[in-house]
Amino acid sequence: MKATAQESQSLVLIVDDEPFIRLILRHFLEREGYQIAEAQNGMEGLTVFKQLHPDIVLLDAIMPDLDGFECCTQLQLLDYNKHTPVLMITGLEDQESVDRAFAVGAIDYVTKPIHWPVLRQRVKRLIEQSQLRQKLEAVNMELQRLVTIDGLTQVANRRRFEEYLNQEWQRLKREQHPLSLILCDVDFFKLYNDTYGHRIGDRCLQEIAQAIKDIIKRPGDLVARYGGEEFAVILPNTDTEGATYVADKICHAVRTLAIPHQNSQVSPHVTISVGFTTEIPQADSDLEEMIAAADRALYKAKAAGRDRFVQNILLPKSKNSC
Ligand code: GH3
Ligand code: MG
Ligand code: MG
Repeated sequence: MKATAQESQSLVLIVDDEPFIRLILRHFLEREGYQIAEAQNGMEGLTVFKQLHPDIVLLDAIMPDLDGFECCTQLQLLDYNKHTPVLMITGLEDQESVDRAFAVGAIDYVTKPIHWPVLRQRVKRLIEQSQLRQKLEAVNMELQRLVTIDGLTQVANRRRFEEYLNQEWQRLKREQHPLSLILCDVDFFKLYNDTYGHRIGDRCLQEIAQAIKDIIKRPGDLVARYGGEEFAVILPNTDTEGATYVADKICHAVRTLAIPHQNSQVSPHVTISVGFTTEIPQADSDLEEMIAAADRALYKAKAAGRDRFVQNILLPKSKNSC
């Protein structure tokens, strides 16, 4: 759909205490195709900025209540305002004022009387640059997402898993709180592929990933694809009891999907085996050992008949559960 003229117009916020200056700026910029908002001092400028999120601010330096320098400082502190350029338009030309304008975050400086062709180019270019920066940031964020996400299942990939596990391990070592790690492996998945084909196998992995994701609710928890048909869940600040609850829910959720698996030796449906471990990281403990412990628990779950969860005991007071 084509954007309407109004949608594509950039919004310029003019902050100046002199009505005449606001008027001539408005007329000039409207002729250039911009939408205009006005404020008559720094205080009002901040309020209008928060309401309308303009594309650029033209800011007078000397105003009652809150002057342009202070207003500019406060604009930089708004966390959603990372890109909006502030162009100071003022009669002050002394070095101290110019230095101060840049110090408080103004991107450029134009002196009165206004040189209109210069103002026209500055406004145009500053808006373009700011829009370009925003696009670049969005692309960077998407790239960041792509390098940390598994393409097939849309959960975190192995790289992100390792990075996050390391980070949380170090944090919880400092804080002396428990970290739980769950490893999951789909049962008889080779046979599933052999029976239904690789494409249906892929779809099965997607469904399982989604089912695990639906269980994991806390913002600090992370679901990752650990390997081919293996998933991992990192549960920071989660003790044995919490991890047992999640492990049980994972097994149950996969059973509930009821994906037919006619050649599975344990069920007519696809099932999953789960091993987990909980640890309060110590100065002398080893993260690799924690992963190995969860892996041993997973192996035990397989050996005990699959379609179940097993806890690896690291803490003396914990109990095994199946
Ligand atoms: P177990 O119950 O002991 O875990 O048996 P299994 O057959 O699941 O174990 P095994 O490790 O022998 O087989 C894993 C299979 O997972 C083999 C491989 O073809 C399949 N697999 C791994 N990654 C993918 C994938 O991305 N898509 C599909 N469709 N299959 C995959
Ligand atoms: Mg496997
Ligand atoms: Mg398997």
